[in-house]
Amino acid sequence: MAGSAARWSGTSIAACSCGRRACRRRCTWRSRWPPRAACARARWDAVRLIAALRRDRYRVLGTTGADITVEALLAAHGQGRAIVDGLWSPLCVAALNTPVERASAQVFANVLRDSLGAARPASDLLLPAVDLTALFPDPAARHVEARGGSVHRGHRIARIEPAAGGRGWRLLFAQGRAEPAGPFDAIVLAVAPRALVDLTEGWPALRTMRAQVAALAYEPITSVYLQYPASVRLRHAMTGFADGPGQWVFDRGALAGQPGLLGVVISASTAQRAPGSDALAHAVHRQLCDLVPGLPLPEWTKVITEKQATFACTPGLARPGTLTEVPGIVLAGDHVASDYPATLEGAVRSGQLAAAALLARLPHG
Ligand SMILES: Cc1cc2nc3c(=O)[nH]c(=O)nc-3n(C[C@H](O)[C@H](O)[C@H](O)COP(=O)(O)OP(=O)(O)OC[C@H]3O[C@@H](n4cnc5c(N)ncnc54)[C@H](O)[C@@H]3O)c2cc1C
Repeated sequence: MAGSAARWSGTSIAACSCGRRACRRRCTWRSRWPPRAACARARWDAVRLIAALRRDRYRVLGTTGADITVEALLAAHGQGRAIVDGLWSPLCVAALNTPVERASAQVFANVLRDSLGAARPASDLLLPAVDLTALFPDPAARHVEARGGSVHRGHRIARIEPAAGGRGWRLLFAQGRAEPAGPFDAIVLAVAPRALVDLTEGWPALRTMRAQVAALAYEPITSVYLQYPASVRLRHAMTGFADGPGQWVFDRGALAGQPGLLGVVISASTAQRAPGSDALAHAVHRQLCDLVPGLPLPEWTKVITEKQATFACTPGLARPGTLTEVPGIVLAGDHVASDYPATLEGAVRSGQLAAAALLARLPHG
């Protein structure tokens, strides 16, 4: 197993890139923040915040008893500039895809509870060494099929309707299959928010849920790809920057067998997108020049922005629950009410809850 370290503005996190699907290795912080006094103050601030949150059982209540922004939480606990800029702000944007001034302090506290506040392995940094399809959905499909289930990919559901006699549900496909599928005893609606609104249009019992989902605001994520000569390699497979525009750079040569290709991620990227794609790619290239002395100009660049990448994780956000007003129909997805922001982990946990809820209600459950 070859170890590598991800640098975060002078702070190092040990990470790993090996041949496994995802590699787990302890993270260590090797702070090199100058000056020494600022570094000591920053560490003390971090310890104080985690201790205070732990004392309050990670329950955040502002003066009005309601959720507040991460910025307000940090101010209330007297967090200095060094720890805010060097740790809390990048961590908040990375985990919640929402900047500190708009992000929910309660959800951020939940993330801290289950990472820095939990046992040390909970903070391990895992770097996937295969693409996400091979990492999660393919094994999940094999798991279902090995137990007698079937998985149908590439079929968009256009409508859900009650089966004859009101016994279960049938699915009508948007294209390809004329006949509806079903009847099914129950349905987990695990589509993204906009599709959920469309699919449940005209269901009066789901009006409240639809209104909550339709009211979600979104934050963008921008990915910038820069292809350099194959000989260009980063010292570490993953490197974090505290100063923009790029936030994280991944060496796709080390991680995905694409030599010379660097992928740079910018979460909550509204401000960084403003100058336009070419200017952003150029600014990211200049940023990489500081990391790789003598870096040549890229052969090509590509900027991809997902404008509605995740919901904006704001204080006191109303999210729909797993159960709906319609028996036999439950919801799953990162947007469903939970402790977590819009993440893969939130989506997976929500799916498990939805499955458990259905199993408990079905006659054979
Ligand atoms: C650029 C980007 C980077 C991200 N990076 C990270 C990260 O590093 N870590 C992390 O944890 N999260 C990350 N996320 C967020 C993560 O992708 C989501 O939280 C997660 O995918 C949500 O899963 P989900 O199952 O709720 O929804 P989705 O992944 O959106 O799945 C919904 C599925 O429903 C399908 N669907 C929609 N309509 C229909 C229909 N009518 N019929 C049938 N199927 C339908 C869609 O095709 C889709 O496959 C990122 C998101 C983006 C956009």
